[in-house]
Amino acid sequence: MNPKLLFWVPAALRMGIILAGVGVLGFLFGAMPALIVACIAMALLVFVQLGYLYQLSDWLDHPHSAKLPDGWGAWTNIFSRLYRLRRDDEKNQAELTEWLARFRQAMHLLPDGVVIMDDVLFLEWCNPAAEQHLGLTHERDKGMRVTNLVRSPDFMDYIILGRYEQPLTLSFRERKLIVHIIPFENRRQILVTHDATETERTEMMRRDFIANASHELRTPLTVIVGFLEIAASEQLDQATRMAHLKLMTEQGHRMQHLIEDMLTLSRLESVDYPMRPERVDVLKLMGQIQRDARALSAGKHEIGMDVDGPDILGSYDELYSAFGNLASNAVRYTPAGGTIHLEWKEGPAGARFSVVDTGIGISPEHISRLTERFYRVDKSRSRETQGTGLGLAIVKHVLLRHGGTLQIKSEAGKGSSFIVCMPKAAIAPRQPELLLN
Ligand code: ADP
Repeated sequence: MNPKLLFWVPAALRMGIILAGVGVLGFLFGAMPALIVACIAMALLVFVQLGYLYQLSDWLDHPHSAKLPDGWGAWTNIFSRLYRLRRDDEKNQAELTEWLARFRQAMHLLPDGVVIMDDVLFLEWCNPAAEQHLGLTHERDKGMRVTNLVRSPDFMDYIILGRYEQPLTLSFRERKLIVHIIPFENRRQILVTHDATETERTEMMRRDFIANASHELRTPLTVIVGFLEIAASEQLDQATRMAHLKLMTEQGHRMQHLIEDMLTLSRLESVDYPMRPERVDVLKLMGQIQRDARALSAGKHEIGMDVDGPDILGSYDELYSAFGNLASNAVRYTPAGGTIHLEWKEGPAGARFSVVDTGIGISPEHISRLTERFYRVDKSRSRETQGTGLGLAIVKHVLLRHGGTLQIKSEAGKGSSFIVCMPKAAIAPRQPELLLN
């Protein structure tokens, strides 16, 4: 129905009823009493309207939908419409607040930084990652120009040139950041920051590794190619030829060892090559390691062994490679006549494998870097003894996969101790004694 009619018809009816009542009273009791009653009725009507107006103005101070009065006459309709409007408003606001909270949470968890700026780069809002990347504090820096906060010539150039279609790689506060400005909404811009420090470090390690590996392979290859060229161009006597062949074979073996170690390392690092723990018979493992060490030493050292510990859970081959590397290092870096002691023991924190030698030892400044790939204290000694510079890196990776740690104690000229600590969790449960009938 027409809302105008809906308002005016009941109002006119109400007035009509009052006037009719007053008319009847005038007819029955005379004009004066009718006039008095009419005045009272009108005053009452005005009073009721004023009462509702007051309630409305009072409600407007705290417009909560649940607090709206019911009303009378035209007020019923007004209040019910106000109620609907307010309820829709409250619903929208609740939804908006929820969305905002979700958005804020997402922005807080985002690993990338987001800074919202106006068209002249004044900071409006930023998330915690951006605070961390750029050294900002939202509360403190709000309203300040971003170029005054991020003081970097490269960043300034990026802004001046305005080539925002390309991101910028920025070295800032000892981090490598990839920053990108994206204009939006005409008068606003977003600055996105991504921390690429770790990616850069990995990339650098990869480059170093390739450079080192190529260098390591090039040296024996140059020797082999050199001898082959001599053999092709000159008539050599049998003894020289044999000597050249011997040297070439040695260099070939060196390349072979290097490639084997590189493959082992890459396998240990690969996620597609998970460790499958098995029960490792430590007595058998230690026996094998001692035999290998004795073979390598060829009687030049005294090699003792003490095994008094439990079996462990892990990969036999990987542990053989790690413990074997430590034992072979002890032989290779201990002059003839020295002693080497291998030990496997259970301790309060788990079990430990140790190799103690009386060899050349290591100066303290080298110790923390020994497990880096291709790091050697004495390059020529390592090469003379068929070292690849990858042995301790392999040990480190095997231990990482087994939850173990490596401790190195050494003193130059006095000998070294390499101690592997295996956690309690890696100790295999004791096997029930076999009862022999
Ligand atoms: P390498 O194949 O050269 O032996 P490793 O990674 O096994 O490579 O060892 C790195 C370096 O640590 C060696 O080059 C050597 O300088 C030093 N090193 C390792 N073990 C010993 C040890 N028992 N005594 C003295 N120096 C050692």
